[in-house]
Amino acid sequence: MTPTSQSYDLAVVGAGICGLAHALAAVRRGKRVIVLDRDAQANGASIRNFGFITVTGQQAGDCWRRAKRSLEVWIEIAGAAKIPIVQRGLLMIARRLEARAVIEAFLQTDVGAECRLVEPNKLANYGSSLRAGEFACALYSPHEARFESREAIPQLASWLGERFGVTFLRETAVRAASPPKLETSRGPIEAEAIVVCPGDDLTALHADRLARYGLARCKLHMMRVRPDRFDERTPAVMSDLGMIRYLGYAELPASQALRARLKAEQRDHVDAGVHLIAVRSGDGTLVVGDSHHYAATPDPFAPAAVDDLILDEYAHVFAGARPQVVERWTGTYASAPDRLMLVDRPCEGLRIVMITSGTGASTSFAIAEEVIAELYG
Ligand SMILES: Cc1cc2nc3c(=O)[nH]c(=O)nc-3n(C[C@H](O)[C@H](O)[C@H](O)COP(=O)(O)OP(=O)(O)OC[C@H]3O[C@@H](n4cnc5c(N)ncnc54)[C@H](O)[C@@H]3O)c2cc1C
Repeated sequence: MTPTSQSYDLAVVGAGICGLAHALAAVRRGKRVIVLDRDAQANGASIRNFGFITVTGQQAGDCWRRAKRSLEVWIEIAGAAKIPIVQRGLLMIARRLEARAVIEAFLQTDVGAECRLVEPNKLANYGSSLRAGEFACALYSPHEARFESREAIPQLASWLGERFGVTFLRETAVRAASPPKLETSRGPIEAEAIVVCPGDDLTALHADRLARYGLARCKLHMMRVRPDRFDERTPAVMSDLGMIRYLGYAELPASQALRARLKAEQRDHVDAGVHLIAVRSGDGTLVVGDSHHYAATPDPFAPAAVDDLILDEYAHVFAGARPQVVERWTGTYASAPDRLMLVDRPCEGLRIVMITSGTGASTSFAIAEEVIAELYG
């Protein structure tokens, strides 16, 4: 029997983290699942990101709760699926007193409970590569985990196939999806239920439904750098600019003073949506980013000036010479004006799930558990 001649309990469109998370949630309920993707291999946001499963800094409420649950799932499956956890924890550096005030306010919140403030004289414990003497303090969060996405996502797909018998049909464009049938470039496929996880494709499937959400796409610049100093004790690092982007900090009243100061001192960074995330890979390189430019169709160009803004913030946080940039790329994700994710329900047995913010690596497993639970009652 070929994959197209069988029928399935669930067809998932899209083999990014969102689609794979739905496949996992469904096979854990004993469902027979097929995953379809138009690309021959993973190529979307899910392999272009930091692989940074971020809990601290996510918007308090559903997003934080989903990130916490998704982190548990990542850690649960990492061993069985042979996906190495490359790095744990987050050090949120406060370069300015206004940023320290945000950290102090964050620590008063429920979601700050397991985090702690690190005074400058204790920062040496987190590695010698930081300009510790120049900081006002840092926040340490124990939650975060980092996976090498370009390896983790293919590995997760292989494990779903081998361990749970999920069928993968790649190089297959889905042209229509309404249960119990999908029209694909390889012919029709039957499935009782369908979950569409199209990433930032706003038009191929159910464009009329998606048009209601005012969606755009966001382009991000990313780099892999080889620093001259490297200290394995250093967790993932972020800094002041991240505190006006990540809603867990940005929604605190204390962030207003920081925002005003950053607009005065780092106007170009703020305008380009630049902030610093630096995460480590197994080979001694760091993945560093990013920036945010919004459009219906972002242009494909990656001006060096934007990379320079990211590297400028990097140089304020990390000591040593300007690092060698060994790789550059851009990625895009769907963006909504008023929500971090959406679940659309066009009819019984059909769900469209889109992560409309830069949080999909951190939240997809929990979102998928919720969607599959609701779909199957
Ligand atoms: C540069 C960058 C950095 C990021 N950093 C982080 C981070 O540190 N932490 C975090 O939590 N999130 C991060 N994100 C966000 C996160 O990567 C995304 O939210 C997440 O990957 C979205 O997953 P997805 O499966 O919805 O989309 P994708 O990974 O884009 O997958 C969608 C898939 O659907 C397929 N597809 C679409 N339409 C069809 C069709 N009609 N037929 C067949 N196939 C179809 C596509 O081919 C694609 O493979 C980042 C994103 C980017 C771009």
